[in-house]
Amino acid sequence: MSANLHDILARAARPDKTAMETPEGARISYGELFARAGRMAQALVDLGVEPGDRVAAQIDKSPDAIVLALACFRAGAALLPLNTAYTLTELEYFLGDAEPALTLCRPAQLDAVRTLSERSVESLGDRGEGTFLQRVAAVREELPSVKRKADDLAAILYTSGTTGRSKGAMLTHENLSSNAQALVGLWRFTAQDVLIHALPVYHTHGLFVATNVALLAGATMIFQPKFDADAVMAATPRATVLMGVPTFYTRLLDHPGLTAEATRHMRLFVSGSAPLLAETHALWRERTGHAILERYGMTETNMIASNPYDGARLAGTVGFPLPGVSLRIAEPDSGKVVPGGDVGVIEVKGPNVFKGYWRMPEKTAAEFRPDGFFITGDLGKVDAQGYVHIVGRAKDLIISGGFNVYPREVEGEIDALDGVFESAVIGLAHPDFGEGVAAVVVRVPGAAIDEFAIRQALEGRLARFKQPKRVFFVEALPRNAMGKVQKAALREAYKGAFAG
Ligand code: AMP
Repeated sequence: MSANLHDILARAARPDKTAMETPEGARISYGELFARAGRMAQALVDLGVEPGDRVAAQIDKSPDAIVLALACFRAGAALLPLNTAYTLTELEYFLGDAEPALTLCRPAQLDAVRTLSERSVESLGDRGEGTFLQRVAAVREELPSVKRKADDLAAILYTSGTTGRSKGAMLTHENLSSNAQALVGLWRFTAQDVLIHALPVYHTHGLFVATNVALLAGATMIFQPKFDADAVMAATPRATVLMGVPTFYTRLLDHPGLTAEATRHMRLFVSGSAPLLAETHALWRERTGHAILERYGMTETNMIASNPYDGARLAGTVGFPLPGVSLRIAEPDSGKVVPGGDVGVIEVKGPNVFKGYWRMPEKTAAEFRPDGFFITGDLGKVDAQGYVHIVGRAKDLIISGGFNVYPREVEGEIDALDGVFESAVIGLAHPDFGEGVAAVVVRVPGAAIDEFAIRQALEGRLARFKQPKRVFFVEALPRNAMGKVQKAALREAYKGAFAG
């Protein structure tokens, strides 16, 4: 049997069932979705795309972005989705590195992008316009699905790469299908589900987690072009599940319409891609009666761990490893497994773990242990109940005076203070300590808490070497589109703070 993800999703589909509701209110059935994917796959082949080729896409979110993913799988090509925020200069790097047989861009950028590639470049707009969609409209036949093996490439997703060059994570058909299967079971997805899809589709969360789970279950997606709190609230009476990043939840908490009554029809709220504040979890429960289910994953590994569907969804934890995923905590340098409860780097192995970085064999080798475990670069621990806790990225670890300071622990103490909305703790070059701990804090609107009050409050709570030596205040923390705090930007902004 073919391991092609397209076929696995198509087998699960009931042709007459609604797969997607478009932002304009139209309904696309599963039958129409796969028929369109077949014609789009034929259009790819007509443009010279062959099995094993890459198809790059820097396009706005629309149902056709999902059809394109299915069409690439069907034609045996690897999809290379690109963040719409990337500039032409950045795009040039990706196209040069991945050498796609075809690049799809937004209609307004067609001429500019054509100067960057010697291969085909066509446009795909979010309202059915663009040169590629004109070709699709003219295609009559549907391309039969190309047979794929489990470890054939389905997609290359470039990591956000806050340091150094962005790396292309090679994901196989099995990586994606095994993860979707595990999540459908764990999160109890069925054809009765209606998912509010408000995530971007150039990132694994919206493109794969949300979409593949919904399609594999035969569920319906309410497809929204971007996150908009009013639009999400308008959809909740007909929906059952929302998948979001933590900022979705903090913004929805600001919405006056968010009540237990308004979310009565919903059965599940999932959060991931960045840490969810314990406070957000508690406020959400108070307002709606629902416990947000937090899960953990990364581009390279798909989803790794999830809080339970039944059983306690613990704030501040990411739950248990997914079925089929092995997880261990090791010493970052030696790779030696640490005793239970100790902090170390999280390592994972399983069918979810990617095949390596595109054309970077040394980087790939450096991030796998000899026994095949992938070194995530996240620091964490597993508690006595088996829940996984993330304490931060290894590269965000602060070493002050020779002592390890885990930012998450300090942030937790600061966030718990009255008047603090949230915080980010960073290490800055320090003449005596190597690195000094600094905190960047967002106050609750109207609160007056100052540096002195924060430092004083932490005195009895944290060992001296963990206490911030400086506290800065900002209106908002810098975040990327997935809600991740950009600590590198903060380190840069405050880099001279402890200078001589
Ligand atoms: P990305 O590859 O863009 O999905 O980013 C993956 C990274 O996001 C992980 O390595 C974690 O550092 C972070 N991340 C994802 N989910 C969570 C979570 N629930 N809590 C804390 N960090 C998370």
